[in-house]
Amino acid sequence: MVRRIPIPLLLLAWVATAAVPTPKSYFGHEIGEDGSVLDWDKVVGYFQALAKSSDGIRVEELGRSTEGRPFIAATIADPETLRHLDRYIAIQQKLADPRTTPPAEAETLFLEGKAVVLVTCSIHATEIASTHTAVEFAYRILTGDKPHYRAILKDTIVLLVPSLNPDGVDIVTRWYRKTLGTPFEGTAPPELYHHYVGHDNNRDWYIFSQVETRLTVAMLHNVWHPEIVYDVHQQGPDASRLFVPPWLDPTEPNIDPILMQEMNMYGTAIAADLTAAGKTGIAIHAAYDFWTPSRHYQAFHGGLRILTESASVRIASPLTVTPDQIAAAALGYNPRERSWNYLEPWTGGTWRLKDIIDYQLIAWDSLLYNAALHREDLLRNFYRVGQRQVERSQPWGFVISKNQRDPGATRKLIETLRFGMVEVRRGADGSAVVPMHQPYSGWAKTLLEVQHYPEDRLYPGGPPKRPYDVTANTLPLLMGVDVSAANQPVPFSTDWQAPEPVQGPVLPAADTDSWRAVTAAWRAGRTVWRNPATGDFSLAERPGWTARKPPRVGLYQPWQANMDEGWTRWLLESFGFTYTGLRNQDIQRGGLRQRFDAIIFADQTADGMENGFGSDAMPEEYTGGLGWQGAASLKEFANAGGTLVFLNGASQYAIARLGVEARTVTPASEPDVFYCPGSLLNLRVDTRSPLAYGVPAEIAAWSEQSPAWDTELPVVARYPASGVLASGWLVGEKAIAGHAALVDAPIGAGHAVLFGMRPQYRAQSYLTFKLFFNALVR
Ligand SMILES: [Zn+2]
Repeated sequence: MVRRIPIPLLLLAWVATAAVPTPKSYFGHEIGEDGSVLDWDKVVGYFQALAKSSDGIRVEELGRSTEGRPFIAATIADPETLRHLDRYIAIQQKLADPRTTPPAEAETLFLEGKAVVLVTCSIHATEIASTHTAVEFAYRILTGDKPHYRAILKDTIVLLVPSLNPDGVDIVTRWYRKTLGTPFEGTAPPELYHHYVGHDNNRDWYIFSQVETRLTVAMLHNVWHPEIVYDVHQQGPDASRLFVPPWLDPTEPNIDPILMQEMNMYGTAIAADLTAAGKTGIAIHAAYDFWTPSRHYQAFHGGLRILTESASVRIASPLTVTPDQIAAAALGYNPRERSWNYLEPWTGGTWRLKDIIDYQLIAWDSLLYNAALHREDLLRNFYRVGQRQVERSQPWGFVISKNQRDPGATRKLIETLRFGMVEVRRGADGSAVVPMHQPYSGWAKTLLEVQHYPEDRLYPGGPPKRPYDVTANTLPLLMGVDVSAANQPVPFSTDWQAPEPVQGPVLPAADTDSWRAVTAAWRAGRTVWRNPATGDFSLAERPGWTARKPPRVGLYQPWQANMDEGWTRWLLESFGFTYTGLRNQDIQRGGLRQRFDAIIFADQTADGMENGFGSDAMPEEYTGGLGWQGAASLKEFANAGGTLVFLNGASQYAIARLGVEARTVTPASEPDVFYCPGSLLNLRVDTRSPLAYGVPAEIAAWSEQSPAWDTELPVVARYPASGVLASGWLVGEKAIAGHAALVDAPIGAGHAVLFGMRPQYRAQSYLTFKLFFNALVR
């Protein structure tokens, strides 16, 4: 008897796969072809086409990007798994909280659950390859029918974000096409590739200031609790072809060792698979440390962070590296020599976008296949990490007292903790209580405690070893909020509720919320009054207080795309200030005093401000800096009563070009003498200065190789004689102790305010925001 095959089923299977469009048919070229860049709407369209033609993928728009583009995530798994996603989310959420999931129940969930792996691409938009890899990978796994793909589909749920920065895809694509075939082909665009924060968009993972960060955390991390998050990046072109963990020291002390061990394990597995596939130039335990939480969220939430950094090309144009162009040294290895963590050096040659994609596809397959093989262990360890967090006993918790100088900053701090799934309770006296026996206690702890970065040297007695990013993240110091560790239990009741903002007749200068009320009044065309002694505001006239109109603010926008300028723009907008962006020519043209009361210069080198890009670096229209004409206009502006506000490195421009008399005591690059790679430093403030309204006499401020000065000019803040470091790492306290960090220099009828700090640091430094705002409205 002939067995009859049910034809409709066969036909369905055939229809489903036959209709999956190949990347080539959709984009018109092979993925990774030299010179091929992608448009975001086409990427979105391709994923939607996959979802229409395959039952192994779903595509969801999570929201909109900063510039309004669709922000999407694809979920890839067995069709049977996709039909029960709610069940798998429920399992993840149960395993995420060991307080409500007893071990016996957890044992059954280890067997039933899937390993959830979130793969995030191209957050740094010039690192374009991984968006291409996402397209190619999705096509291959949905159509490939290979054993390792079947294992991945069966035992994992892959959450794939083809770009964490959709706006950047188009910004870079536009620039690449514009410069293709010119001497500037393959350069980075002269604008930030994220509207506000550029490359710093992956330094936002604990303050959550940008919409893309918030969407990813709220709709993927906090829903799915991925066991693994793989973030796909690119590095410079002249060393390893691909980095993968193990990470370098130091590792942040609140990261669970189980996760560190698993990162080592999955990282070296990727390295082994790449090597077995014949790919050379694989570095492990190199270049990248595991200190700051600003670069990642998941390792404080029970998940592994896997990073790969691929050697870049010139956007999508190939490049050739000759053997003598290979770097002679890199952090952790020598790119020219074999070592245990760089076993097969890449010896040079032509390197293409397609090469990056080929390496990445092997790395993705390796990680996901290993996740599938170790599915049960991943879930078990995820649960175990949560148990260890809940068992934390020192400290018992943290108390955020009820009476705070800055209620606005306090509310923001608590909201920030909660956005990261920290439970905040109400203490008996109205304080906010953060007990440590909860699943993300390590997260709360790192954000609330002081960082003690290790004294890290390249070799004993040698120069400081550069951290990959900054070394401090103590929110109470950054925000000026009174928080204390409690070693004994503190009684608490229900969840903490944000108190209603106080609606008194006086808006205290110490409360950052006051600034939002003031700028709102200004935008509504109203006048506000300010107490000349305290700096407090009132929306109604009061005797002895002075009427204040909104300041007319200009913000210098150099062609050398400047992240600190972007953060400044973000801060001004989020606090309701209006401002005008100023290019070189706008400043050189003069007549500034008729248009502005204050002009801001974000952190930049004096040389960059003066000269900008040379004609060999950028097309003509993006070259040049302020030049002598710009300096003359700025002097004229200040002489006529305007205020120039210089942030961090830009302050050196005021000394070099505007004649501000201060001697810089911090060497530009002698790390043995002075090194402060992003730390909080103590300052003593002259509270009589109008720049210091609402700011206490002792504060911590953000220093990032910030200049300090010796000067006869009025000093608003200076370093103490000893005990300068508040959190993070500082080499060479002696170089700055007792010296000035904030100078209010008179120029004619106006001022130059020199900030030897970043007072608007990455949307976090609420305490010193006030110094900055005061400088704008003096
Ligand atoms: Zn990157």
